[in-house]
Amino acid sequence: MTTNVDVLVVGLGPAGSAAAWAAARAGLSVLAIDRKQRIGEPVQCAEFVPRPLSTYTAEPGVLVQHIQGMNSVLPSGDLERSPFQGLMVDRAEFDRSLARRAEAAGARVSTRTRLAWLDGTTARLQVGKRTNSVDWRVLVAADGPHSQVARLLGLPALETVQTRQYTVPLTQACTETDIWLSDLYPGGYGWLFPRGDRANLGLGADRRLTAELRTPLDRLHAHLVACGRVGAECFFRTGGAIPVSGLRERVVAGPVLFAGDAAGLTHPISGAGIAAAVQSGEMAGDAAAAYLGGRASALADYESELREQYGPSLERALSRRAWLAQFWRKRAANDDAVQRRGWIAFKEYFE
Ligand SMILES: Cc1cc2nc3c(=O)[nH]c(=O)nc-3n(C[C@H](O)[C@H](O)[C@H](O)COP(=O)(O)OP(=O)(O)OC[C@H]3O[C@@H](n4cnc5c(N)ncnc54)[C@H](O)[C@@H]3O)c2cc1C
Repeated sequence: MTTNVDVLVVGLGPAGSAAAWAAARAGLSVLAIDRKQRIGEPVQCAEFVPRPLSTYTAEPGVLVQHIQGMNSVLPSGDLERSPFQGLMVDRAEFDRSLARRAEAAGARVSTRTRLAWLDGTTARLQVGKRTNSVDWRVLVAADGPHSQVARLLGLPALETVQTRQYTVPLTQACTETDIWLSDLYPGGYGWLFPRGDRANLGLGADRRLTAELRTPLDRLHAHLVACGRVGAECFFRTGGAIPVSGLRERVVAGPVLFAGDAAGLTHPISGAGIAAAVQSGEMAGDAAAAYLGGRASALADYESELREQYGPSLERALSRRAWLAQFWRKRAANDDAVQRRGWIAFKEYFE
């Protein structure tokens, strides 16, 4: 069976749902698919979003708590507090509320549906044991860090760092995030993000520089248990890949638009990507609508607008990442001055 749609969206993370919503509200026929059984699950996220995303946290169960600041802990143990405000969300509920918004605007949302193959503007979808074909006019690739769309189009894979995270009991509620910067986490950092009476404790690191993440995370966990900050229990374990190589060489390939992690929009230093995913998804949906509405330049405009908006901050992060790379696994990586220059909370990062 073959169906026809104006826009096929692959992936129902924040980028895909935002794209489906924007395209559907413009009156296009939209099919948005995700291979997951339940949107948003399993959660692979520390669940912090910047304040401007509060417009997406109104549905019950999405907002968990407010964050007032960030503590950055340097290798010497010195700590710097910065007014880095934001929100902790329930990421599964956040993703589902965005998908519901897309559905309410008229998009058809289909879970347990995997993009298996692309043949020109025909997509083959695997739904359980069945295979369906969909003819599309614009495709939004919002399929995350290991984009299958990119692979099928023969585009290069993005460089990623690996993460590991435990959800643990928090002994005292708090409104600040903690970040650990040191050579224990080469190419990444450790984090503790409070969410009510629990916290997400995790770390990211470059797998080329560290054999495995379990030992350093268990050590950080044990240290925080000994300090009385968190409990020894672990409610949930997760992890995942974070793109760190910046924007793809092209985020538009013919009638295919890449958005979110699939486009390489995640910040190469902080790993934050939710806000950029929502925004780029919406921009991709709008671009699809403008293009199918007759503005021939709309897809190329998407490429240049995305580069204009995110290029400078991604470029700075990439250059800091490359600069830091020369120090990992050397003594200098545990020099506070080096870490200050490499982390977004310090003025040295922006100098
Ligand atoms: C451990 C961890 C912690 C993080 N913490 C934060 C944080 O606190 N704050 C922040 O801003 N960012 C954080 N990030 C990054 C953030 O999660 C991503 O930037 C964000 O999820 C990107 O959204 P997306 O929609 O582009 O991709 P995703 O959320 O990855 O969604 C892609 C979707 O595509 C689907 N998919 C993939 N292939 C196919 C296919 N072939 N067919 C159908 N569906 C497919 C997947 O199932 C998935 O649902 C974290 C990442 C990790 C790994």
